[in-house]
Amino acid sequence: MKTIKWKLIMMYLGLVFIVMIVSGSFILLRLQTIEMDKARNQLEVYAQKVSEQVVLLYEEDSFQSGLIQFAKSGSTTSQIQGSILDRTGVTLATTTTSKPPYPQYKNSVIIGAMSGTPTFSKNKIVDSSGSVFLGYAYPVILNDETTYVVYAQMDATSIFDSIGQTRSTIFVSVGIALIISAIMGYIFAKTLTSPIVALTGKAKELAQGKLNQSVRVYSHDEIGQLSDSFNYMARELSRTVSDITKEKSKFEIILHNMTDGVISFDLDGKVMHYNSASLKMLDTDAADFTFKEFLERYGIGIGLYVELMETPLTKKVNFWVGKKYITAAFSPYSGEGGIDGMVLVLQDNTETKKLDDMRKEFVANVSHELRTPLTTVKSYTETLLDGAMEDKEIATDFLQIINNEADRMSFLVRDLLQLSRFDNKQIELNVSEIELNGFVEENIRQSRIHAENKKQTLSFTPYPKPLVIRADKDRITQVMNNVLTNAIKYSGEGASITVWLEEAEGFDKIYVKDTGMGIAKEDIGRIFERFYRVDKARSRAMGGTGLGLAIAKEIMELHGGSIQAESQLGQGTTMILSFPVRKKREKV
Ligand code: ADP
Repeated sequence: MKTIKWKLIMMYLGLVFIVMIVSGSFILLRLQTIEMDKARNQLEVYAQKVSEQVVLLYEEDSFQSGLIQFAKSGSTTSQIQGSILDRTGVTLATTTTSKPPYPQYKNSVIIGAMSGTPTFSKNKIVDSSGSVFLGYAYPVILNDETTYVVYAQMDATSIFDSIGQTRSTIFVSVGIALIISAIMGYIFAKTLTSPIVALTGKAKELAQGKLNQSVRVYSHDEIGQLSDSFNYMARELSRTVSDITKEKSKFEIILHNMTDGVISFDLDGKVMHYNSASLKMLDTDAADFTFKEFLERYGIGIGLYVELMETPLTKKVNFWVGKKYITAAFSPYSGEGGIDGMVLVLQDNTETKKLDDMRKEFVANVSHELRTPLTTVKSYTETLLDGAMEDKEIATDFLQIINNEADRMSFLVRDLLQLSRFDNKQIELNVSEIELNGFVEENIRQSRIHAENKKQTLSFTPYPKPLVIRADKDRITQVMNNVLTNAIKYSGEGASITVWLEEAEGFDKIYVKDTGMGIAKEDIGRIFERFYRVDKARSRAMGGTGLGLAIAKEIMELHGGSIQAESQLGQGTTMILSFPVRKKREKV
């Protein structure tokens, strides 16, 4: 019942009802007044005429005979019946009957006239037989007092009947009008509200996310314009939502394809967005933390939260996640009412950190390696200058030492320069075909003297068939020399060094095995690093720079091959140089 449709119908009905009732009542009253006035006029004229006759009869002293005459003048067909009453209201003569007993009238009209005022009955008078009358009483004043009353009455059945009929006609009309207006009102309200109902339905569907909505426009009135506006709004909304969806999916694609990790938190510290890179960096399967929990879990400390809230500027923090070195940039973002949340960009800087550490270590190593011979040179030079120069023998010894140290420095600088050229990719290989049996034999021949000096046996078993590789002979010789020198250097007296060749898995391999001191498991992986030496003092004492194997590794990799070490502490070491087998077309 609260719908506009019902309200409209009720208003419509109410309006029709009021108009009908007011106009009906007005017509009824008007009719009643006209009928009453007409009856009153007739009764007045009649009563006045009778009253004049009464006065005449009284003056002529023929009152009694006049009364009889008056009674006889009446007729049953006449509409108006008259009666002459004395001052007490007793009927003296009447036109309704010629013989007594006369009907006695005692009503308000007669009482009014008895007091000297002509009175008309505004309401109907009902007699004992149930007949309906209208009465008029007129006082006959003789000698300044009411002596008689002329009472005239009229049969008012037809008047009241016609008024009654008019009233029921009006009631019926009101009823019919109400039924018609209810039907009309229903149709009108339905016409008016059905587009609104349709609009409401479509608006609900729109709110539920079904964006392709449009309503039919039946007219160009206000509702038509509303429907037009709705259709426009739905179109615009659909376009905007599709734009936003496209932007969102673009954003998601960018977010998930970023190599940097991104996590955003809202003001309550809940995670709003994150990408897979961030989870990978944080070694976790889900972003199941709040901002504060994140700070605690990764050991950053809750103090940063307070700091960021006080001064909302981007702050970079580094922390470790296992072996990963992560740099996190915390950027608070603001809305209208201050800080709205936090965006976190994570970068895996493990490699950069490693390189940075290596660079620092390298600089420290170079400085250290240079400082030792420089200190020696400086102190011996000073001693010489202080007088040792005079003693030729000592001076020769000292100069020899200075010369050796200068050699060390120049080897170091030579190796460093070579490594720097590798780093800058400035090395060009002078490739030629090398037969490995002959190549190894030649190298062994050069190193044999050093092995013999240490009473070591250095043996080579040639491969049953020639193995030809394509390589830069000078560089490979440098590698081979370094490996053989190391085998001799890091093996004691009487050790045996064996060299052999193998071809396996697409590689031609040179094995150099010694029975020396060996290398501990934890050091094996590191001996190819620059300046890494298992025993620094020993290596230095033997003239090593700690760069030999690093250079060997660079050279082997430049040839598409590798250098590997297998060793057991105290048992000896095997170095394996692998060269890729030449492809057939290269053989030509
Ligand atoms: P170095 O100039 O010190 O010899 P290298 O780069 O040639 O530098 O070797 C790095 C380190 O590897 C050496 O200091 C040594 O500790 C270890 N090493 C290399 N070859 C052997 C080997 N055959 N036996 C034992 N240790 C070795």
